[in-house]
Amino acid sequence: MDLRARLRNDSNHEGVLLLDGGLATELEAQGAHLQGDPLWSARLLHTNPKAIKAAHHSFLLSGADVIISATYQATIQGFVEHLGVSSDAARELLASGLRLAEEAATAFSSGKRATHPVVVAASVGSYGAFLHDGSEYSGAYADKMSIEELKACHRPQLQCLAAAGAGVLALETIPSVKEAGALVELLREFPNCDAWISFSCKDGTRLSDGNLLQDGVRVAGRSTQVLAVGVNCCPPEWVEPLLDSVAALKSPDRRWVVYPNSGEEWDAQQGWQTSAKTAANIPTLSDVWIKQGAALIGGCCRVCPDQIGELRRHLNRRLNISTEEEADLET
Ligand SMILES: [Zn+2]
Repeated sequence: MDLRARLRNDSNHEGVLLLDGGLATELEAQGAHLQGDPLWSARLLHTNPKAIKAAHHSFLLSGADVIISATYQATIQGFVEHLGVSSDAARELLASGLRLAEEAATAFSSGKRATHPVVVAASVGSYGAFLHDGSEYSGAYADKMSIEELKACHRPQLQCLAAAGAGVLALETIPSVKEAGALVELLREFPNCDAWISFSCKDGTRLSDGNLLQDGVRVAGRSTQVLAVGVNCCPPEWVEPLLDSVAALKSPDRRWVVYPNSGEEWDAQQGWQTSAKTAANIPTLSDVWIKQGAALIGGCCRVCPDQIGELRRHLNRRLNISTEEEADLET
């Protein structure tokens, strides 16, 4: 499925596309140890690619229309440093992240359980993700870097993903207006790639760097390659006020993408802190997000395939589509 055609042709804004959930969360559920790993889920591209494909498959079975490759924290420099491989081998590993997602999508689409066409988006994390110091939630590094330096950091990863045939780049967890600006400029070097830009936020109106989401949306709007703008990895409760804050900037060419985490809190020392809050309220909250214009909805960290399945059923009920599963339940 061509995401551009799908989003631009959906003039009545009815068809919400379902993204997947937290890939690392699913990999951990399968037994991978990713906590504290500077490559995070991208290490498995080297050590256990089958697990990545299986995780993609789980989200597809749950009804995801869009799956995001395991390349968020995958950089050539990172692979060279942390795996001791050559830069050519690192490029191949990075490309393999996209290929695994595409293979999972193809296998699913040609199988019996295929219910819908699938889009593969190539994940590109912020430079803070590469730094592995939690700075994708502060964006502090961007203050000390020029736009050209930020572009130079991202360029090899984009070159590699574009050469591997990426049609859509998921520029995710971007903490600052400055980094978004750099990515928007860099996109021009890759005219065959569309993208969405999704920001990390600190509250119901501001990006992690303290600027307003409005400013981030305006910067993203400078590129016709950016099909959607939004937020990811924030508590679900922040999505409504964040979308409210940019309501005046809504346009047919600029759709919203939202994929919050489960709402549990991240502690740099202790990891995810389980609390009473869970991802269970995402389906209910999504009704408002759709009214606000969200066209792509899914989950980020700690949102597992079961919860994406819940969201799928909720979206189907909304549209009155009876899925095979629901038909099974009725009989
Ligand atoms: Zn996340």
